Amino acid sequence: IVTERQGGEIQLNQKVLNIYTHQGYSEVITNKEVFSTKLVINTAGLHSDEIGALTIPKLDLRIIPFRGEYMSIIKERQHLCNHLIYPTPDPDFPWLGVHFTRMMKGVVVAGPNAVWAFKKEGYKMSDVSLRDIGKALSFPGFQKAMRKFIGFGIGEYYRSMNKAAFTKGLQKLIPEIRKEDLVPGDAGVRALAVGRNGELLVDFVFAENEWAVNVLNAPSPAATACLSIGDSVAEKALARF
Ligand SMILES: Cc1cc2nc3c(=O)[nH]c(=O)nc-3n(C[C@H](O)[C@H](O)[C@H](O)COP(=O)(O)OP(=O)(O)OC[C@H]3O[C@@H](n4cnc5c(N)ncnc54)[C@H](O)[C@@H]3O)c2cc1C
Repeated sequence: IVTERQGGEIQLNQKVLNIYTHQGYSEVITNKEVFSTKLVINTAGLHSDEIGALTIPKLDLRIIPFRGEYMSIIKERQHLCNHLIYPTPDPDFPWLGVHFTRMMKGVVVAGPNAVWAFKKEGYKMSDVSLRDIGKALSFPGFQKAMRKFIGFGIGEYYRSMNKAAFTKGLQKLIPEIRKEDLVPGDAGVRALAVGRNGELLVDFVFAENEWAVNVLNAPSPAATACLSIGDSVAEKALARF
């Protein structure tokens, strides 16, 4: 609404395929049109590394997709959780750990776990992209991270495929919860930036030059913080005009 009030236009359902930078302007090629612009702002989430590399070729990170799967608690047992219940975060990981959330409509969900998704939009275990797997495995930073976190990764796959193991994890927070209380819920895919040194990046990352501002890592709580991140991006953009 704000964009349109200021005379801007929002173009939906267009995929950015390429960006060519020239002296003083860039051409953004989508599947439908070509746009000319003085400044490219990239907030492409799971694809922000690939789009970012079109304006800043040597990026020292890669986005690795991590699926977060949820279970829902059956209605008769929802009274076990009245509000958010979180574990103590593990500082080694850029996520909160499986927790309980009572949603606005009263439904209670447990999750999300964190399993490496074999596709950027890998919302199901069966979603596989050989291209995305190859891109992840060929990045030295992900190879280092895999070696470091292999035990955690196998544990997460095990808990993902074995409801009893998933339940056991939840019982640390609500000892009364039982396997029969849980039914499979939705899943989301996190865009996790991994540095070339194998570090899982926990903070927001911007990469910019004269003609582009790239938001390369916007992990949780980026949704909660979106207005503030938007202000930062707008400030960076205005500084170029
Ligand atoms: C399971 C889960 C739970 C979470 N819980 C929380 C929470 O409780 N609180 C919180 O604050 N955050 C949470 N997050 C994180 C939050 O969702 C992200 O931090 C936030 O969505 C990042 O915003 P973004 O705009 O950078 O990316 P996105 O929201 O992913 O948006 C990127 C957009 O770019 C578009 N795009 C990508 N490639 C192209 C292309 N080539 N051309 C055109 N468009 C393109 C995509 O279609 C998408 O619309 C959670 C995430 C997950 C997965």
